[in-house]
Amino acid sequence: MLIANRGEIALRVVRACKELGIESVLAYSEADRDSLPVKLADRAVCIGPAQVNASYRKARAVVSAALAYKVDAVHPGYGFLSENADFAALCEQEDIGFIGPSSDIIRRMGDKIEAKVIARRAGVPTVPGSLGAIAQYDEARSVANEVGFPLLIKAAAGGGGRGMRVVESADTLERDLSEIMSEAEVAFGDPSVYIERYLTDIRHIEIQVVSDGDTVLHLGERDCTTQRRNQKLIEESPSPALDATLRQGLADAAVALCREVGYKNAGTVEFVFDNLERKYYFIEMNTRIQVEHPVSEMVSGLDLIKLQLLIAGGAAIGLTQQDVVISGHAIECRINAEDPENNFSPSPGKITNFRSPGGFGVRLDTHVESGYMIPPYYDSMIGKLICWGRDRDEAIVRTLRALDELVVDGIITTAAFHKEILDSGKFRSGDFNTAFVAEFLTSRGT
Ligand code: ADP
Ligand code: ADP
Ligand code: MG
Repeated sequence: MLIANRGEIALRVVRACKELGIESVLAYSEADRDSLPVKLADRAVCIGPAQVNASYRKARAVVSAALAYKVDAVHPGYGFLSENADFAALCEQEDIGFIGPSSDIIRRMGDKIEAKVIARRAGVPTVPGSLGAIAQYDEARSVANEVGFPLLIKAAAGGGGRGMRVVESADTLERDLSEIMSEAEVAFGDPSVYIERYLTDIRHIEIQVVSDGDTVLHLGERDCTTQRRNQKLIEESPSPALDATLRQGLADAAVALCREVGYKNAGTVEFVFDNLERKYYFIEMNTRIQVEHPVSEMVSGLDLIKLQLLIAGGAAIGLTQQDVVISGHAIECRINAEDPENNFSPSPGKITNFRSPGGFGVRLDTHVESGYMIPPYYDSMIGKLICWGRDRDEAIVRTLRALDELVVDGIITTAAFHKEILDSGKFRSGDFNTAFVAEFLTSRGT
Protein backbone atom coordinates (compact mmCIF):
# COMPACT_ATOMS: atom_id res chain seq x y z
CA MET A 1 0.00 0.00 0.00
CA LEU A 2 1.29 3.44 -0.90
CA ILE A 3 0.29 6.22 1.49
CA ALA A 4 0.13 9.52 -0.36
CA ASN A 5 -0.13 11.90 2.56
CA ARG A 6 1.68 13.23 5.61
CA GLY A 7 1.21 14.05 9.27
CA GLU A 8 -1.19 12.33 11.59
CA ILE A 9 -3.33 10.76 8.86
CA ALA A 10 -0.28 9.14 7.24
CA LEU A 11 0.59 7.61 10.62
CA ARG A 12 -3.05 6.57 11.12
CA VAL A 13 -2.97 4.61 7.84
CA VAL A 14 0.46 3.10 8.60
CA ARG A 15 -0.97 1.75 11.85
CA ALA A 16 -4.00 0.20 10.15
CA CYS A 17 -1.74 -1.43 7.54
CA LYS A 18 0.41 -2.96 10.27
CA GLU A 19 -2.60 -4.46 12.01
CA LEU A 20 -3.83 -5.95 8.73
CA GLY A 21 -0.39 -7.27 7.77
CA ILE A 22 -0.20 -4.95 4.75
CA GLU A 23 3.23 -3.64 3.84
CA SER A 24 3.23 0.17 3.73
CA VAL A 25 5.24 2.55 1.57
CA LEU A 26 5.06 6.17 2.59
CA ALA A 27 5.37 8.76 -0.19
CA TYR A 28 6.87 11.85 1.47
CA SER A 29 8.25 15.26 0.55
CA GLU A 30 11.76 16.46 1.37
CA ALA A 31 10.36 18.50 4.27
CA ASP A 32 9.01 15.35 5.95
CA ARG A 33 12.09 13.15 5.60
CA ASP A 34 12.62 12.88 9.37
CA SER A 35 8.95 12.60 10.36
CA LEU A 36 7.46 9.88 12.54
CA PRO A 37 5.24 8.40 9.77
CA VAL A 38 8.36 7.97 7.60
CA LYS A 39 10.10 6.22 10.51
CA LEU A 40 7.19 3.90 11.25
CA ALA A 41 6.19 2.93 7.70
CA ASP A 42 7.76 -0.26 6.35
CA ARG A 43 9.29 1.69 3.50
CA ALA A 44 9.38 5.30 2.39
CA VAL A 45 9.96 7.08 -0.89
CA CYS A 46 10.66 10.75 -1.46
CA ILE A 47 8.35 12.08 -4.18
CA GLY A 48 9.56 15.67 -4.39
CA PRO A 49 10.32 18.94 -2.66
CA ALA A 50 8.34 20.55 0.15
CA GLN A 51 5.96 22.54 -2.08
CA VAL A 52 2.71 20.60 -2.32
CA ASN A 53 2.30 21.10 -6.05
CA ALA A 54 5.66 19.39 -6.57
CA SER A 55 4.98 16.48 -4.18
CA TYR A 56 1.76 15.68 -2.25
CA ARG A 57 -0.50 17.23 -4.89
CA LYS A 58 1.47 15.98 -7.88
CA ALA A 59 -0.53 13.06 -9.24
CA ARG A 60 2.19 11.89 -11.64
CA ALA A 61 4.83 11.74 -8.88
CA VAL A 62 2.57 9.65 -6.66
CA VAL A 63 1.58 7.28 -9.47
CA SER A 64 5.24 6.83 -10.50
CA ALA A 65 6.12 5.87 -6.92
CA ALA A 66 3.17 3.47 -6.79
CA LEU A 67 4.32 1.80 -10.02
CA ALA A 68 7.96 1.67 -8.93
CA TYR A 69 7.04 -0.07 -5.68
CA LYS A 70 4.43 -2.25 -7.41
CA VAL A 71 1.83 -1.48 -4.74
CA ASP A 72 -1.68 -2.84 -4.92
CA ALA A 73 -3.31 0.38 -3.83
CA VAL A 74 -2.88 4.02 -2.79
CA HIS A 75 -4.44 5.61 0.28
CA PRO A 76 -4.84 9.36 -0.32
CA GLY A 77 -5.78 10.37 3.27
CA TYR A 78 -7.63 13.72 3.35
CA GLY A 79 -6.77 16.96 1.53
CA PHE A 80 -4.12 16.79 -1.24
CA LEU A 81 -5.19 14.24 -3.91
CA SER A 82 -7.98 12.63 -1.91
CA GLU A 83 -10.84 14.29 -3.80
CA ASN A 84 -9.03 14.67 -7.09
CA ALA A 85 -11.03 12.68 -9.65
CA ASP A 86 -8.26 12.92 -12.24
CA PHE A 87 -5.84 11.29 -9.82
CA ALA A 88 -8.30 8.49 -9.06
CA ALA A 89 -8.81 8.02 -12.82
CA LEU A 90 -5.04 7.83 -13.33
CA CYS A 91 -4.87 5.09 -10.69
CA GLU A 92 -7.70 3.25 -12.46
CA GLN A 93 -5.84 3.48 -15.80
CA GLU A 94 -2.63 2.18 -14.27
CA ASP A 95 -4.49 -0.60 -12.49
CA ILE A 96 -3.58 0.72 -9.04
CA GLY A 97 -6.29 0.45 -6.40
CA PHE A 98 -7.55 3.77 -5.05
CA ILE A 99 -8.79 3.71 -1.44
CA GLY A 100 -12.03 5.54 -1.99
CA PRO A 101 -14.92 5.53 -4.45
CA SER A 102 -14.50 5.45 -8.25
CA SER A 103 -13.23 8.52 -10.10
CA ASP A 104 -16.70 8.91 -11.57
CA ILE A 105 -18.32 9.21 -8.14
CA ILE A 106 -15.59 11.55 -6.88
CA ARG A 107 -16.19 13.79 -9.89
CA ARG A 108 -19.95 13.86 -9.49
CA MET A 109 -20.08 14.30 -5.73
CA GLY A 110 -17.05 16.62 -5.66
CA ASP A 111 -19.00 19.14 -7.70
CA LYS A 112 -21.18 20.63 -4.98
CA ILE A 113 -23.81 21.72 -7.52
CA GLU A 114 -24.18 18.26 -9.02
CA ALA A 115 -24.15 16.69 -5.56
CA LYS A 116 -27.15 18.84 -4.60
CA VAL A 117 -29.00 17.79 -7.74
CA ILE A 118 -28.34 14.14 -6.91
CA ALA A 119 -29.43 14.69 -3.29
CA ARG A 120 -32.74 16.17 -4.44
CA ARG A 121 -33.23 13.22 -6.76
CA ALA A 122 -32.69 10.91 -3.78
CA GLY A 123 -35.40 12.80 -1.87
CA VAL A 124 -32.89 14.46 0.46
CA PRO A 125 -33.73 18.06 1.47
CA THR A 126 -31.18 20.67 0.33
CA VAL A 127 -30.65 24.30 1.35
CA PRO A 128 -32.98 26.58 -0.67
CA GLY A 129 -31.08 28.33 -3.44
CA SER A 130 -30.14 28.15 -7.10
CA LEU A 131 -30.81 24.88 -8.89
CA GLY A 132 -27.56 25.05 -10.82
CA ALA A 133 -24.53 27.22 -11.48
CA ILE A 134 -24.99 30.99 -11.56
CA ALA A 135 -22.90 32.76 -14.16
CA GLN A 136 -24.84 35.97 -14.82
CA TYR A 137 -25.86 38.79 -12.53
CA ASP A 138 -29.53 38.66 -13.64
CA GLU A 139 -29.73 34.97 -12.69
CA ALA A 140 -28.26 35.83 -9.29
CA ARG A 141 -30.80 38.62 -8.86
CA SER A 142 -33.75 36.37 -9.55
CA VAL A 143 -32.48 33.69 -7.12
CA ALA A 144 -31.92 36.45 -4.56
CA ASN A 145 -35.56 37.48 -4.93
CA GLU A 146 -36.56 33.96 -3.89
CA VAL A 147 -34.10 33.24 -1.07
CA GLY A 148 -33.66 36.79 0.24
CA PHE A 149 -30.66 38.42 1.92
CA PRO A 150 -28.24 37.67 3.41
CA LEU A 151 -27.39 34.92 0.95
CA LEU A 152 -24.34 32.77 0.42
CA ILE A 153 -22.40 32.37 -2.83
CA LYS A 154 -20.48 29.10 -2.80
CA ALA A 155 -17.88 27.73 -5.20
CA ALA A 156 -18.85 24.36 -6.70
CA ALA A 157 -15.28 23.15 -6.13
CA GLY A 158 -14.78 24.81 -2.73
CA GLY A 159 -13.57 22.99 0.36
CA GLY A 160 -11.75 23.34 3.65
CA GLY A 161 -14.00 26.28 4.58
CA ARG A 162 -12.84 28.25 1.55
CA GLY A 163 -14.78 29.46 -1.47
CA MET A 164 -17.80 31.00 0.25
CA ARG A 165 -19.03 34.55 0.54
CA VAL A 166 -21.95 36.04 2.46
CA VAL A 167 -23.79 38.77 0.54
CA GLU A 168 -25.65 41.11 2.87
CA SER A 169 -27.69 43.09 0.37
CA ALA A 170 -28.52 43.60 -3.32
CA ASP A 171 -26.10 46.56 -3.42
CA THR A 172 -23.00 44.37 -3.55
CA LEU A 173 -24.43 41.27 -5.28
CA GLU A 174 -23.02 42.02 -8.74
CA ARG A 175 -19.53 42.80 -7.45
CA ASP A 176 -19.49 39.86 -5.00
CA LEU A 177 -20.56 37.45 -7.72
CA SER A 178 -17.78 38.44 -10.10
CA GLU A 179 -15.18 38.53 -7.33
CA ILE A 180 -15.97 35.09 -5.94
CA MET A 181 -16.02 33.61 -9.45
CA SER A 182 -12.49 34.90 -10.10
CA GLU A 183 -11.37 33.73 -6.68
CA ALA A 184 -12.79 30.25 -7.31
CA GLU A 185 -11.06 30.11 -10.68
CA VAL A 186 -7.70 30.95 -9.07
CA ALA A 187 -8.11 28.73 -5.98
CA PHE A 188 -9.85 25.68 -7.44
CA GLY A 189 -9.39 26.02 -11.21
CA ASP A 190 -13.18 26.18 -11.60
CA PRO A 191 -15.17 29.43 -11.55
CA SER A 192 -18.59 27.76 -11.10
CA VAL A 193 -20.58 29.14 -8.19
CA TYR A 194 -24.10 28.69 -6.82
CA ILE A 195 -26.33 30.45 -4.33
CA GLU A 196 -27.82 29.28 -1.05
CA ARG A 197 -29.95 30.97 1.55
CA TYR A 198 -27.60 32.03 4.34
CA LEU A 199 -28.91 30.27 7.42
CA THR A 200 -27.92 31.95 10.67
CA ASP A 201 -29.03 29.73 13.54
CA ILE A 202 -27.63 26.37 12.46
CA ARG A 203 -25.56 23.42 13.57
CA HIS A 204 -23.30 21.36 11.30
CA ILE A 205 -24.26 17.70 11.55
CA GLU A 206 -22.79 15.00 9.33
CA ILE A 207 -23.33 11.28 8.88
CA GLN A 208 -20.45 8.81 8.54
CA VAL A 209 -21.27 6.23 5.91
CA VAL A 210 -19.47 3.13 4.77
CA SER A 211 -20.47 0.95 1.85
CA ASP A 212 -19.05 -2.09 0.11
CA GLY A 213 -21.22 -1.37 -2.92
CA ASP A 214 -23.89 -3.69 -1.63
CA THR A 215 -24.35 -3.04 2.08
CA VAL A 216 -24.58 0.65 3.02
CA LEU A 217 -24.09 1.33 6.72
CA HIS A 218 -24.01 4.52 8.75
CA LEU A 219 -22.05 5.04 11.95
CA GLY A 220 -24.32 7.73 13.33
CA GLU A 221 -23.66 11.45 13.29
CA ARG A 222 -20.89 13.86 14.19
CA ASP A 223 -21.74 17.33 15.36
CA CYS A 224 -19.18 19.84 14.03
CA THR A 225 -20.94 23.03 15.05
CA THR A 226 -17.90 24.37 16.94
CA GLN A 227 -16.29 26.12 13.98
CA ARG A 228 -14.26 29.21 13.28
CA ARG A 229 -14.58 30.77 9.82
CA ASN A 230 -16.44 27.68 8.55
CA GLN A 231 -13.61 25.41 9.66
CA LYS A 232 -14.15 22.75 12.28
CA LEU A 233 -12.44 23.11 15.65
CA ILE A 234 -14.24 20.58 17.85
CA GLU A 235 -16.34 17.61 16.73
CA GLU A 236 -18.46 15.31 18.83
CA SER A 237 -20.79 12.35 18.63
CA PRO A 238 -23.67 11.98 19.31
CA SER A 239 -25.04 15.46 18.59
CA PRO A 240 -26.55 17.09 21.69
CA ALA A 241 -29.25 18.62 19.45
CA LEU A 242 -30.97 15.57 17.98
CA ASP A 243 -33.82 13.39 19.12
CA ALA A 244 -34.25 9.82 17.90
CA THR A 245 -36.58 10.77 15.03
CA LEU A 246 -34.28 13.45 13.60
CA ARG A 247 -31.26 11.20 14.04
CA GLN A 248 -32.95 8.43 12.09
CA GLY A 249 -34.09 10.88 9.41
CA LEU A 250 -30.55 12.15 8.87
CA ALA A 251 -29.09 8.66 8.72
CA ASP A 252 -31.78 7.49 6.29
CA ALA A 253 -31.15 10.54 4.07
CA ALA A 254 -27.39 9.84 3.98
CA VAL A 255 -27.93 6.18 3.15
CA ALA A 256 -30.47 7.08 0.43
CA LEU A 257 -27.95 9.42 -1.17
CA CYS A 258 -25.27 6.69 -1.16
CA ARG A 259 -27.69 4.28 -2.76
CA GLU A 260 -28.63 6.84 -5.41
CA VAL A 261 -25.01 7.13 -6.61
CA GLY A 262 -23.92 3.55 -5.92
CA TYR A 263 -21.39 4.80 -3.38
CA LYS A 264 -18.53 2.52 -2.35
CA ASN A 265 -16.01 2.93 0.52
CA ALA A 266 -16.17 5.42 3.42
CA GLY A 267 -17.70 8.86 3.03
CA THR A 268 -19.40 11.66 4.88
CA VAL A 269 -22.71 13.28 4.08
CA GLU A 270 -22.82 16.81 5.52
CA PHE A 271 -25.94 18.70 6.58
CA VAL A 272 -26.79 21.96 8.23
CA PHE A 273 -29.49 21.74 10.89
CA ASP A 274 -31.77 24.71 11.44
CA ASN A 275 -32.22 25.09 15.20
CA LEU A 276 -35.53 26.95 15.06
CA GLU A 277 -37.26 24.98 12.31
CA ARG A 278 -35.57 21.77 13.53
CA LYS A 279 -35.01 20.74 9.92
CA TYR A 280 -31.88 19.50 8.19
CA TYR A 281 -30.57 20.27 4.72
CA PHE A 282 -27.85 18.49 2.76
CA ILE A 283 -24.85 20.73 1.93
CA GLU A 284 -22.16 18.43 0.51
CA MET A 285 -20.58 15.00 0.52
CA ASN A 286 -16.91 14.33 1.23
CA THR A 287 -15.82 11.25 -0.72
CA ARG A 288 -12.87 10.45 1.54
CA ILE A 289 -11.89 9.76 5.12
CA GLN A 290 -12.37 12.88 7.21
CA VAL A 291 -10.19 14.53 9.81
CA GLU A 292 -12.77 13.84 12.52
CA HIS A 293 -13.37 10.15 11.71
CA PRO A 294 -11.97 9.00 15.12
CA VAL A 295 -15.02 10.47 16.86
CA SER A 296 -17.18 7.86 15.13
CA GLU A 297 -14.60 5.14 15.77
CA MET A 298 -14.66 5.85 19.51
CA VAL A 299 -18.45 5.58 19.83
CA SER A 300 -18.86 2.65 17.41
CA GLY A 301 -15.72 0.63 18.18
CA LEU A 302 -15.18 0.22 14.43
CA ASP A 303 -11.86 1.00 12.72
CA LEU A 304 -12.80 3.08 9.67
CA ILE A 305 -9.40 2.90 7.97
CA LYS A 306 -9.40 -0.88 8.23
CA LEU A 307 -12.91 -0.94 6.77
CA GLN A 308 -11.71 1.27 3.90
CA LEU A 309 -8.83 -1.11 3.15
CA LEU A 310 -10.97 -4.25 3.37
CA ILE A 311 -13.65 -2.81 1.09
CA ALA A 312 -11.04 -1.63 -1.44
CA GLY A 313 -9.62 -5.15 -1.36
CA GLY A 314 -13.00 -6.51 -2.45
CA ALA A 315 -14.25 -7.79 0.91
CA ALA A 316 -17.80 -7.37 2.14
CA ILE A 317 -18.32 -5.24 5.27
CA GLY A 318 -19.63 -8.31 7.06
CA LEU A 319 -21.82 -6.26 9.42
CA THR A 320 -25.45 -5.26 9.46
CA GLN A 321 -26.82 -1.94 10.69
CA GLN A 322 -27.89 -3.72 13.89
CA ASP A 323 -24.25 -4.64 14.52
CA VAL A 324 -23.33 -0.96 14.65
CA VAL A 325 -23.94 0.06 18.25
CA ILE A 326 -23.21 3.64 19.27
CA SER A 327 -22.13 3.82 22.87
CA GLY A 328 -21.17 6.79 25.05
CA HIS A 329 -19.91 10.13 23.80
CA ALA A 330 -16.70 11.21 22.04
CA ILE A 331 -15.17 14.66 21.56
CA GLU A 332 -12.30 15.63 19.29
CA CYS A 333 -10.20 18.80 19.58
CA ARG A 334 -8.06 19.75 16.60
CA ILE A 335 -4.72 20.87 18.02
CA ASN A 336 -3.34 23.45 15.63
CA ALA A 337 0.02 25.23 15.65
CA GLU A 338 -1.75 28.59 15.71
CA ASP A 339 -1.89 31.55 18.07
CA PRO A 340 -5.47 32.17 19.26
CA GLU A 341 -4.36 35.49 20.78
CA ASN A 342 -3.09 36.62 17.40
CA ASN A 343 -6.03 35.88 15.09
CA PHE A 344 -5.03 32.20 14.88
CA SER A 345 -1.98 32.99 12.80
CA PRO A 346 0.24 29.97 12.09
CA SER A 347 3.00 29.31 14.61
CA PRO A 348 5.40 26.81 13.06
CA GLY A 349 8.76 26.09 14.69
CA LYS A 350 10.55 23.50 16.77
CA ILE A 351 8.78 21.54 19.49
CA THR A 352 11.38 21.49 22.25
CA ASN A 353 9.42 19.26 24.60
CA PHE A 354 6.33 17.14 23.96
CA ARG A 355 4.24 15.13 26.41
CA SER A 356 1.20 13.15 25.38
CA PRO A 357 -1.81 12.83 27.66
CA GLY A 358 -3.01 9.32 28.46
CA GLY A 359 -5.33 7.22 30.54
CA PHE A 360 -8.71 5.61 30.06
CA GLY A 361 -10.71 6.91 27.11
CA VAL A 362 -7.94 9.19 25.82
CA ARG A 363 -6.59 8.98 22.27
CA LEU A 364 -4.05 11.29 20.71
CA ASP A 365 -3.53 10.98 16.96
CA THR A 366 -0.38 12.93 16.15
CA HIS A 367 2.86 12.69 14.21
CA VAL A 368 4.77 15.12 16.42
CA GLU A 369 7.34 14.33 19.12
CA SER A 370 9.97 16.18 21.16
CA GLY A 371 12.51 17.83 18.85
CA TYR A 372 10.12 17.88 15.89
CA MET A 373 10.37 20.86 13.57
CA ILE A 374 6.96 21.85 12.17
CA PRO A 375 7.51 22.71 8.51
CA PRO A 376 5.81 25.92 7.37
CA TYR A 377 4.50 24.47 4.10
CA TYR A 378 1.46 22.55 5.26
CA ASP A 379 -1.74 22.64 7.27
CA SER A 380 -1.28 23.86 10.84
CA MET A 381 -2.97 20.85 12.45
CA ILE A 382 -0.41 18.95 14.53
CA GLY A 383 -2.71 16.44 16.14
CA LYS A 384 -6.16 15.50 17.33
CA LEU A 385 -7.15 14.72 20.89
CA ILE A 386 -10.15 12.40 21.03
CA CYS A 387 -11.72 11.50 24.36
CA TRP A 388 -14.53 9.09 25.10
CA GLY A 389 -16.89 9.19 28.07
CA ARG A 390 -20.01 7.32 29.06
CA ASP A 391 -21.92 10.54 28.51
CA ARG A 392 -21.21 14.07 27.24
CA ASP A 393 -20.32 15.45 30.67
CA GLU A 394 -17.77 12.74 31.32
CA ALA A 395 -16.28 13.23 27.84
CA ILE A 396 -15.93 16.98 28.48
CA VAL A 397 -14.27 16.50 31.88
CA ARG A 398 -11.93 13.87 30.46
CA THR A 399 -10.98 16.11 27.51
CA LEU A 400 -10.21 18.96 29.92
CA ARG A 401 -8.09 16.63 32.03
CA ALA A 402 -6.21 15.36 28.95
CA LEU A 403 -5.65 18.92 27.67
CA ASP A 404 -4.12 19.73 31.06
CA GLU A 405 -1.66 16.86 30.64
CA LEU A 406 -0.68 17.78 27.08
CA VAL A 407 2.64 19.66 26.87
CA VAL A 408 3.80 21.21 23.58
CA ASP A 409 6.72 23.53 24.36
CA GLY A 410 8.43 25.75 21.82
CA ILE A 411 5.41 26.72 19.73
CA ILE A 412 1.95 28.15 20.38
CA THR A 413 -1.04 25.82 19.96
CA THR A 414 -4.81 26.00 20.23
CA ALA A 415 -4.85 23.63 23.25
CA ALA A 416 -5.46 26.36 25.85
CA PHE A 417 -8.22 27.83 23.70
CA HIS A 418 -9.94 24.44 23.56
CA LYS A 419 -9.98 24.39 27.35
CA GLU A 420 -11.69 27.78 27.46
CA ILE A 421 -14.33 26.65 24.97
CA LEU A 422 -14.99 23.29 26.66
CA ASP A 423 -15.21 24.95 30.05
CA SER A 424 -17.71 27.58 28.93
CA GLY A 425 -21.32 27.35 30.06
CA LYS A 426 -22.48 27.60 26.47
CA PHE A 427 -20.47 24.59 25.27
CA ARG A 428 -21.43 22.58 28.34
CA SER A 429 -25.11 23.32 27.77
CA GLY A 430 -24.85 21.80 24.29
CA ASP A 431 -27.13 24.58 23.08
CA PHE A 432 -25.23 26.70 20.54
CA ASN A 433 -24.84 27.30 16.83
CA THR A 434 -22.03 27.84 14.29
CA ALA A 435 -21.62 31.47 15.46
CA PHE A 436 -20.62 30.33 18.96
CA VAL A 437 -16.82 30.54 18.58
CA ALA A 438 -16.94 33.98 16.93
CA GLU A 439 -19.24 35.24 19.70
CA PHE A 440 -17.00 33.68 22.34
CA LEU A 441 -13.96 35.45 20.88
CA THR A 442 -15.82 38.77 20.82
CA SER A 443 -17.01 38.38 24.40
CA ARG A 444 -13.48 37.78 25.69
CA GLY A 445 -12.27 40.79 23.69
CA THR A 446 -10.10 39.08 21.07
P1 ADP B 1 -12.99 17.47 7.15
O1 ADP B 1 -14.29 17.70 6.52
O2 ADP B 1 -12.32 16.18 6.97
O3 ADP B 1 -12.98 17.95 8.52
P2 ADP B 1 -11.74 19.79 6.09
O4 ADP B 1 -12.83 20.42 5.30
O5 ADP B 1 -11.30 20.44 7.34
O6 ADP B 1 -12.09 18.30 6.28
O7 ADP B 1 -10.52 19.52 5.13
C1 ADP B 1 -9.60 18.48 5.39
C2 ADP B 1 -8.28 18.86 4.81
O8 ADP B 1 -8.38 19.00 3.42
C3 ADP B 1 -7.78 20.16 5.33
O9 ADP B 1 -6.38 20.04 5.41
C4 ADP B 1 -8.21 21.14 4.27
O10 ADP B 1 -7.35 22.26 4.23
C5 ADP B 1 -8.11 20.30 3.02
N1 ADP B 1 -9.09 20.60 1.96
C6 ADP B 1 -10.33 20.14 1.84
N2 ADP B 1 -10.91 20.55 0.69
C7 ADP B 1 -10.01 21.30 0.06
C8 ADP B 1 -9.99 22.01 -1.19
N3 ADP B 1 -11.01 22.01 -2.05
N4 ADP B 1 -8.90 22.68 -1.49
C9 ADP B 1 -7.85 22.68 -0.65
N5 ADP B 1 -7.79 22.02 0.52
C10 ADP B 1 -8.84 21.34 0.87
P1 ADP C 1 -16.57 23.02 2.80
O1 ADP C 1 -16.55 22.30 1.50
O2 ADP C 1 -15.62 24.14 2.87
O3 ADP C 1 -16.49 22.08 3.95
P2 ADP C 1 -19.44 23.27 3.33
O4 ADP C 1 -20.42 23.44 2.23
O5 ADP C 1 -19.35 21.93 3.96
O6 ADP C 1 -18.00 23.72 2.81
O7 ADP C 1 -19.73 24.35 4.44
C1 ADP C 1 -18.81 24.60 5.48
C2 ADP C 1 -19.50 25.33 6.62
O8 ADP C 1 -20.06 26.58 6.16
C3 ADP C 1 -20.70 24.57 7.20
O9 ADP C 1 -20.29 23.65 8.17
C4 ADP C 1 -21.52 25.71 7.79
O10 ADP C 1 -21.02 26.12 9.03
C5 ADP C 1 -21.29 26.83 6.79
N1 ADP C 1 -22.37 26.84 5.79
C6 ADP C 1 -22.44 26.11 4.66
N2 ADP C 1 -23.58 26.36 3.98
C7 ADP C 1 -24.25 27.29 4.70
C8 ADP C 1 -25.49 27.99 4.53
N3 ADP C 1 -26.28 27.80 3.45
N4 ADP C 1 -25.85 28.90 5.47
C9 ADP C 1 -25.05 29.14 6.54
N5 ADP C 1 -23.89 28.53 6.75
C10 ADP C 1 -23.47 27.61 5.85
MG1 MG D 1 -17.80 20.61 4.40
